[in-house]
Amino acid sequence: MKGFKEMTITEILKRGKSYVKDSLETINKLDEKLKAFITVNNKAKELPGKFSGVPIAVKDNIVTKGLRTTCASKILKEYIPPYDATVVKKLKQSGFTIIGKTNLDEFAMGTGTEYSAYQITRNPWDLSRVAGGSSGGSAAAVASGEVVAALGSDTGGSIRQPAAFCGVIGFKPTYGLVSRYGLVAFASSLDQIGPITKTVKDAAILMNVISGFDSNDSTTVDRKVEFTKYLDEDFSNVKVAFPKEVFDEGIEDGVAERFNEFVKFLEGKGIKVDKVDFPELKYSVATYYIIAPAEVSSNLSRFDGMRYGKRNEEEGLLETYLKSRTNNLGPEVIRRIMIGTFTLSAAYYDAYFEKAQKVRRLITNKIENLFDKYDFIITPTSPITAFKIGEIKDPLVYYLMDIFTIPANLAGIPAINIPFGFSNNLPVGMQIMGRKFDDPKVLGFANYIEKDNPVVFPFKEEKK
Ligand code: GLN
Repeated sequence: MKGFKEMTITEILKRGKSYVKDSLETINKLDEKLKAFITVNNKAKELPGKFSGVPIAVKDNIVTKGLRTTCASKILKEYIPPYDATVVKKLKQSGFTIIGKTNLDEFAMGTGTEYSAYQITRNPWDLSRVAGGSSGGSAAAVASGEVVAALGSDTGGSIRQPAAFCGVIGFKPTYGLVSRYGLVAFASSLDQIGPITKTVKDAAILMNVISGFDSNDSTTVDRKVEFTKYLDEDFSNVKVAFPKEVFDEGIEDGVAERFNEFVKFLEGKGIKVDKVDFPELKYSVATYYIIAPAEVSSNLSRFDGMRYGKRNEEEGLLETYLKSRTNNLGPEVIRRIMIGTFTLSAAYYDAYFEKAQKVRRLITNKIENLFDKYDFIITPTSPITAFKIGEIKDPLVYYLMDIFTIPANLAGIPAINIPFGFSNNLPVGMQIMGRKFDDPKVLGFANYIEKDNPVVFPFKEEKK
């Protein structure tokens, strides 16, 4: 019999009992070391509904009524939202219990939770390493067995990359399928909420709950999608492509080896896997790091101590603005606001922002062309495995690690991380990207692969 740490949504539905207490107990035992949570909802209770008794964690940039939401920033240290994000409302209405709010890089800008103003989340496989980011708290909480599942947000890879580092499932849906209402905006044209889980089926179940049109988010689409539709399908006759450039991009040996094995594994199933040219891939990082900061400079202007956030009272309005922002926003957030403000300025707009928008279109066109011939595009999720805390000092090195995850955000397509083996005892993740709105097929294909490659846990489960 499985203990709580291995529990999935599917399993809990079968058992029909509550695991809210088990989750709180496990968090209280583990989190002092793991630091996955910024806020634990110690008063969490069961709610009525189909998923009653299923504990779930929510990234701390998604607002929860009456439960502190910090975005891992000092500027929102005391912010108690007066409303629930649409996804949170939907979770609660279906009976899920929000067990707490997970750590992230400040305002989701980063790749290791090292930019959280509060704490660095540890990787459950090796506590001296990062859990990835920016949804590192959510991924660590799921991999360690503190919770059954979690929500994250993904602007350039923040669901998939921490899922890869921690060896769990992370799914970024097609842009527009999940409401962003109540997700504190980072880069609105790229942001999307999605699940981090122990099985692909759980991710699909959660998608059925959290997705759907929302009049509070004009970018949501009115389209009925059944995410669990292809879970038991045979995918041996699909066509798969991978960019030959995958091996050029500073990829770690162990990751390259697992990727080659992944291709062989698929071929062993009778699937046709082609190596294709994707020269545009190398421009995706530069494109993203122009577009995302530009949106940041606009989205984060509201945190000024007047409209939102902690105010540092000074003499005069300008001084008050300056102090409130410089004292309460961290260096990475300030860096992005400054880059974004610069690239949007009249003298540089054409050279940077407008050009980046054009390159975004070229990358999207290239991906769409590939999908004329292929059902899925595969890459490793991250070129490297979880790195040591404090090891990376240069922000550019951080940025370059996002190379494989960024294209899916630029093109708005669905993409998933699934664990596939280890390198130096650390999990390696593979990414599957699919056509826009082919989310059920991406999940179906991932589920088909998962049958031979289930999630492995970093802990030894005590049997109950
Ligand atoms: N690592 C990327 C960044 O720093 C992506 C973050 C995200 O997806 N939220 O912007």
